[in-house]
Amino acid sequence: MHCRPCETWVDARRCPSSVAAVAVQRVKVPISAREPMDGDGVGGTAQDAISCWLHDFQLSAGEPILQKAGVEYGSEVMWWSDSRRRKRPHEGIDITLADACSMRSLPLRFAEPGRVVGIIDDFLGRTVIVQRPRHREQFWLYAHVELADDIELGCWVTEASFLGHAAASATKCPSHLHISLVESAGVMSPTEASDAWQRVTWSTIHEWDWLRFVPLTLQLPQRRPTHTERGLWWAGLLGGVLLITCAAVSRYRRP
Ligand SMILES: [Zn+2]
Repeated sequence: MHCRPCETWVDARRCPSSVAAVAVQRVKVPISAREPMDGDGVGGTAQDAISCWLHDFQLSAGEPILQKAGVEYGSEVMWWSDSRRRKRPHEGIDITLADACSMRSLPLRFAEPGRVVGIIDDFLGRTVIVQRPRHREQFWLYAHVELADDIELGCWVTEASFLGHAAASATKCPSHLHISLVESAGVMSPTEASDAWQRVTWSTIHEWDWLRFVPLTLQLPQRRPTHTERGLWWAGLLGGVLLITCAAVSRYRRP
């Protein structure tokens, strides 16, 4: 399945309709009251989900996502400071736009359906933790968010649910969304997960041996050429061959 509407993106196993996502972006969508079923868009890999989310986010933003050293997973660089380095390698990916005000005004949504099993504070806003329904050992962390009022512990969310906005920043670090994928040592029931995450804070997150961060790549789905682009490519190739042939023939006929 390709991300819609253009059908020109590949490597996206599941995408909500981009057209619909853009159209409803300012409409509050109710949180799902039930556990997602097969067919609700929960079958792809986590990386597929995040690539698709980035695609939709960029469409709704209307400007490119900031690509700078430091935003990617594992980086030791602070992307908002040329001279300072992170205390430890980056635990996820940072998503923002060149204009932090534009970033603040954009409604944020979830990458996948899931259950909220934790909400913790972070240095810019709040972090909401969502358990993946088909991979109950994995959790999405959406950090630095000014949370929507109806996001609370135990609720089910879908990709269409309104997560909130990027939190305002009073530091040198501009408003942005941080996304991490965390894996626990084994599958957890939602109750076990809620109990476990209640004891975790960002300052102690590296001390727990039951969780580890999973690498994520900040990349859009690969773009497949459109029919027009493919047509132009073939027209260019044929034109080139024709020119070379004509030149060769005229040279051969020259007395
Ligand atoms: Zn980050």
